[in-house]
Amino acid sequence: MSKKRGLSFSELASLLEELEGISSNISLRDKLAEFFKGKKGKIIKYSSYFILGRVGPKYEDINLGFGNKTMIKIIAGAFDEKEDKVKKIFDKKGDLGDTAEKLNKRKRSSLMLEDVYKKLHKIKDISGRGSQEKRAEEFSELMKKAKGKEAKYIVRIALEKMRLGVGEMTVLEAFAKAFTDDIENKKKIEKSFNVCTDIGELGESLSKHGLKGAKRFSITIGRPVEAMLAQRVKKVSDILEKIKGDKIAAEEKYDGERVQIHKDGNDIKLFSRRLEDITHQFPDLVEYVKDYVKSKKVVLDGEIIAYKKGKILSFQKLMQRRRKYDVKEYRKKIPVVVFLFDILYLNGKSLLKKPYPERRKKLENAVDKKSKKIRLAKRKVSKKFDVIKKFFKKSIDKGLEGIIVKSTAKDSVYQPGNRGWLWIKWKKEYSEGMKEAIDAVVVGSFHGKGKRKGGFGALLCAVFNKDKDRFETFTKVGTGFTDNDFKVIGKKLKKIETGNRPKRLKVKKNMKPDIYYKPKLVIEIIGAEITRSPSHTAAEKNGKGLALRFPRFQRVREDKAPDDATTIKEIKQLKK
Ligand code: AMP
Repeated sequence: MSKKRGLSFSELASLLEELEGISSNISLRDKLAEFFKGKKGKIIKYSSYFILGRVGPKYEDINLGFGNKTMIKIIAGAFDEKEDKVKKIFDKKGDLGDTAEKLNKRKRSSLMLEDVYKKLHKIKDISGRGSQEKRAEEFSELMKKAKGKEAKYIVRIALEKMRLGVGEMTVLEAFAKAFTDDIENKKKIEKSFNVCTDIGELGESLSKHGLKGAKRFSITIGRPVEAMLAQRVKKVSDILEKIKGDKIAAEEKYDGERVQIHKDGNDIKLFSRRLEDITHQFPDLVEYVKDYVKSKKVVLDGEIIAYKKGKILSFQKLMQRRRKYDVKEYRKKIPVVVFLFDILYLNGKSLLKKPYPERRKKLENAVDKKSKKIRLAKRKVSKKFDVIKKFFKKSIDKGLEGIIVKSTAKDSVYQPGNRGWLWIKWKKEYSEGMKEAIDAVVVGSFHGKGKRKGGFGALLCAVFNKDKDRFETFTKVGTGFTDNDFKVIGKKLKKIETGNRPKRLKVKKNMKPDIYYKPKLVIEIIGAEITRSPSHTAAEKNGKGLALRFPRFQRVREDKAPDDATTIKEIKQLKK
C-alpha cells in the first residue's frame, strides 16, 4: 500500500470477498471493524459507500444508468468476448459481477480505491447527448484496468447489487468497534447518523476524532435528516398519560407521502421518507415552494397529498406520481398540495433543539398563508382533552386518517429518526378496536392454487430487527388482495426474486417459501392479534417467535424502505 495514494482497490475487493462468505451478523461486523481499524479519512468514506453497494450517500441520486443489457455489452467489449457468451455465463451464474470475474483474465492491477471512486463519480456526472455511450466507454476503461475480483465488485457497485448481507446498522456497529473500542457506542453513533445521513462522512469523522467525531454534525441545507416519527397508543386515554406540556396540541394527520423540503434561494430539493431525492417527480411542488415559501434558506417537513377539485385523492393515486417518465402528464392528472407541519432549519440556524411551539410559530411566518398549494397542517391547541377528542372526530368526519398529538413542553425538540412520545398518532382504526397496521417486508411467497395458479397464494412477511440488522418473519398473508393487487405485486416481485435465502433473513424450516425475495418491497397489513408461534422468528424466545394472526393485506408502501418497516421493538410494544 503506497502511503501517498491510500488503499489499493484490491484490498477492499478481498474484504468484500471475505464478507460474502460470512453469514453471521456478528462475524460480518467484526470483519468490517478489523478492516476499518487503523484506517482513516477518505479511505473510510469511500469504502463505506462501496461496502453498502453505492457510490455515495443514500440521499444522492447516484444511479450510473446501467441496466443488465448495457452491462453485458460493456463486459463483452472490455474483455473481447461475444455478447452471447457473456449472456450465457450470466444466465448460469445469475450475477453480472461473477460473470465479469470469470471473463477477466488480468492477473495484476494497480487500481486504487480513490481511482475507482473518482471514476465512478466522473461517469455519473456525464450528461447530455451521447452520454449513455460515453458512460459505457469510461466504465469499460475502468474494467480493463481491473483484475478479476475487482471487476466483479466494480460491476456490483455500478448495478447497486452488492449482495453481502451488510446493512447500515452493521456498518455503524463496526464503526463503534473500530473507532471507539466499544460496541455500546453504536446507539450514540446511530443518533448522529439520523442527523448526518451520509454514512461516509460520519465514518470519516469517527476515524479521525473517535466518538467526538459523532457530535460534529448538525442539519445543513442539501443533506436531509431522518424524519421524526410518531408513537402509538392503545387507548385514547393513554395519550394523556404520555404527553407532556400544560397544553395539548393536535394536528390533522394526512395520509400521503412525507417530504422534507430544502430551499436555498431558488435551489430547491425534495427528499422522501426514505431520503431519496424526489425533486424531479414534483416540478409543481418546486414551483409552489419558490412562490409561496418566503424564507430564503429553510428546511421544512410536511406531507404531500394528491388533491383535485377540493378533494383529497387516495394514497394509491399519489403513488402514481412516483415515476421517471411522463412527469408532465401526471402533474396534470394528479395534482398535489403539501401540508407543512414542521420547520427544521432557518437562515443558517438549526431549529432541531427548539421546542415545538417555537418551531410552529416560525413555520407560520415562513410561508405565504394565502397559498392553497402550500398549506399548514390544521391544528387545535387546548388544555382540555375533550376539545382534542372533538377535533379527532371532526378530522375523521372529514375523511382524514386521524390526528397526531404533539407535546408542547420545553423539551419538545425535533428528534430525527426517533419514534418517541413527543408525537403520538391516534387513528380511526384504533377507535374502532382494530389493530394498528404493520409495515412488513415481503421476503418470500407460496405458490397459488386454483384461481391463483401461476401467481402467489400467500406472501411471507418479515419485520425489522434493528439491533441485529436483519429481517425476521412475522406472518404469512393471503387475504385482502384484489385481482389488480395480484397483478401489480406479482410484477414487482418478479424483479426481486432470488434463488437463495437472503442473508439478512431469519426464517424457520417449516416456513420455507417456494420463492425467496430480496428484502425490498414493503406492504401494509392489519391483523387481529399478536401471539407466539413456532413458525416465525420475530423476537424469538424458546423456539417461538411473535406472529400476527389473521393478517390482511392493505396496500403497497412504496414510500417506505425495508429498514423503515415496523421494528421488533414496536411489535413487542403492540403485544403488551
Ligand atoms: P405512520 O406512518 O402511520 O407511522 O404515521 C406517521 C406519519 O404520518 C408521518 O411519517 C407523516 O408522514 C404523516 N403525517 C401526516 N400528518 C402529519 C402531521 N400533522 N404531523 C406529523 N406527521 C404527519
